[in-house]
Amino acid sequence: MYSKNKIDSFIKESPILKEIIDLSPVIWLNPNRKIKSEMPAFPIKKKDMDAAAELWERFAPFFVNAFPQTAKTNGILESPLKELENMKALLNQESAKIQGRFFLKCDNALPIAGSIKARGGFFEVLHYAEDLALNAGILKKSDSYAAFTTDKFKQFFSKYKIGVGSTGNLGLSIGIISAKLGFQVTVYVSGDAKKWKKDLLRANGVEVIEFAGDFSEAILAGRQKTNADPMAYFVDDENSHELFLGYTVGALRLAKQLEEANIRVDADNPLFVYSPCGVGGSPGGTAFGLKQIYGDNVHCFFVEPTHSPAVLVGLVTGEMSNISVQDIGIDNITEADGLAVGRPSNFATNVSGHLVSGIYTIEDDRLFTLLVKLMDTEQIFLEPSATAGLIGPQTVATTDYATKNNLNMENATHVVWATGGDLVPDFERKEFYERGKNEFVSIN
Ligand SMILES: *Cc1c(COP(=O)(O)O)cnc(C)c1O
Repeated sequence: MYSKNKIDSFIKESPILKEIIDLSPVIWLNPNRKIKSEMPAFPIKKKDMDAAAELWERFAPFFVNAFPQTAKTNGILESPLKELENMKALLNQESAKIQGRFFLKCDNALPIAGSIKARGGFFEVLHYAEDLALNAGILKKSDSYAAFTTDKFKQFFSKYKIGVGSTGNLGLSIGIISAKLGFQVTVYVSGDAKKWKKDLLRANGVEVIEFAGDFSEAILAGRQKTNADPMAYFVDDENSHELFLGYTVGALRLAKQLEEANIRVDADNPLFVYSPCGVGGSPGGTAFGLKQIYGDNVHCFFVEPTHSPAVLVGLVTGEMSNISVQDIGIDNITEADGLAVGRPSNFATNVSGHLVSGIYTIEDDRLFTLLVKLMDTEQIFLEPSATAGLIGPQTVATTDYATKNNLNMENATHVVWATGGDLVPDFERKEFYERGKNEFVSIN
C-alpha cells in the first residue's frame, strides 16, 4: 500500500479518487478520450482485427467436428442480440426513463464457454495452435481445419503445454479448448476457487493446481512455472495482445447484427455500449473494434465493482498497470468473479485510455438485484458480473455527457454487453437468485 502522502497527492489531482477509495459508486467521464482525427497509432490495427476474423473462419470446420452444438451456425461461435422491452419498462419505473432502444448482447450464451472468454481465450489458443502447426509444416492455411480433430494433430499438440492463472471463466475457456486440441493444459487457481469449476476442468482432462495463497500468487507461480518450460505457453491475462485481438472480432459481429436489425449508427443515431470490466481486455477489445467501425458515433462505457475498480484507478491516476487497487487501500473483494481484478492489463489499458467515454462502478448487492430483475422480466440468467451494464444508460444520464457531446438521445441505441452465465450450475443460479431476491425485498 502507498503512503498517505502519496495517496493524498493523487486525490488532490483527481478528487474523484476519494469517493473511489470510500467505495461509493461513481461515474467518471474520461477527459483523455480522443476523437477519431486525434487518435494515436495503436500497436494493433484494423487489418489485425480483420485477420483475426479470418482465423475464426478457418477454424469453423474444426468447431463443427469437435463441438457438434456449433454445427447449426456452421462452426461460427456467436450470440444473439436481444431487445429488452420488459426489462426496460421495469428500469423506467425506478429511475430516469431510458431514451432510445435497449439491447442485450447475449455473450452469456456463447457456445462451449458460456462467456465472452469464448472470444478472447479461445482465440489465443487457436492462434497458438495454428502457428505451431504451420511452422511444423503439417498445415497450410488453405487446408480444411477439420484436421485439428485428427489423432495426428492431437498427438502433435500433446508435446506442448499451455498454462493459465484464473479461477473463473478464463481458466474454463482456455482449459476446455486446449484439452480438446490435445495440449497438456494446466490451470493455476487460488485456494478460494469454486469446487464446481475445478471439477468441470478436471472432467475435461485439465490439470488443476491449487495454491493456498491469493490469486496474484497463483498467477505469478503459474507464469514462472510455465515460462520456465520451453515447450509451454502462458496465457497472460495481465498483458495479452492475442486475448485483446480475439475480443475485437466481437465488434465486427455486433455491427453485422445491428445492420441486420436495420439499426443505423451515425452522427444523428448514437450507439452506446456498456461492458463489465475486469483486467480490461474484453471491454477494451470490443471498444477498439467498435471505434474502428463507427468512429466518434459509438460511446463505450466500462463498469467495475466498487471493490475492484482496477482500470478506473489506472486511468484516473494515469499510472495504468503500475497501480493496483490494493495500493490505495481497496480490498478487491467482490462476488463478481469475472471482475475481481486488482491490477489492469497493461496492453489493454494503454489502448482504452484513448477510447473509453467513461467508467462507472457498481455495488455487489446491485448486481444480484439486477440478476433477479432480468430473470423475472426476460427469463435470461446472467452471472452477477454480467449484469453490471444494465444500469449503464441511466447512470450515464446522470451526467452531462449527452449534452456536452450534442447527442440526439431519442435516437440512441444502447447495447448492454452480457459477458457470462451459461456454465453456472443450477444450485449456484438458485443461490444467486435468492440473494438478489432478499436484497430486493429489503430495500423496497
Ligand atoms: C472476464 C470477464 C469479464 C471482463 O473481462 P476482462 O477482459 O477481464 O476485462 C467480464 N465479465 C465476465 C463474466 C468475465 O468472465
